[in-house]
Amino acid sequence: MAQANSQFMQEAIALSIKSVKSGQGGPFGAVIVKDGEIIAKAHNQVTSTNDPTAHAEIMAIRQACQVLQTFQLNGCELYTSCEPCPMCLGAIYWARLDRVYYANTKADAADIDFDDQFIYQELDLPIGERQLPMVQMMRQEALSAFQLWSQTVDKTEY
Ligand SMILES: [Zn+2]
Repeated sequence: MAQANSQFMQEAIALSIKSVKSGQGGPFGAVIVKDGEIIAKAHNQVTSTNDPTAHAEIMAIRQACQVLQTFQLNGCELYTSCEPCPMCLGAIYWARLDRVYYANTKADAADIDFDDQFIYQELDLPIGERQLPMVQMMRQEALSAFQLWSQTVDKTEY
């Protein structure tokens, strides 16, 4: 496992500043490193691309996967200027990154009104108690895709 490299975090922080100065998004930047080299770098682009999922970490993961032509980032490490939000944390697990280095904390983010705490709280609640209404329907119909997946031998598992 590589050691934490302050140059990589410096780059993530530079991207977070670039994001603000360019007016393209929130103050967040991230880079992905493999074998001691940056293979992807991104900053938040939520407001400039009208994409609420365009967080720095998500953008960097998409780039790294394109560069490596893979959907799993084993052997890669993420440097992000701020502790990941629940969405990005989920994406980080799905992408199977080896490790995350972060600079600002989620409390620092909350101080400037990027409050992930609400989402973390919602995740802890039973579905029926969340602020977001979620209604289950048509399970039998939907299960047909799951059965098809189970029965399919020639598939790309992940
Ligand atoms: Zn995020």
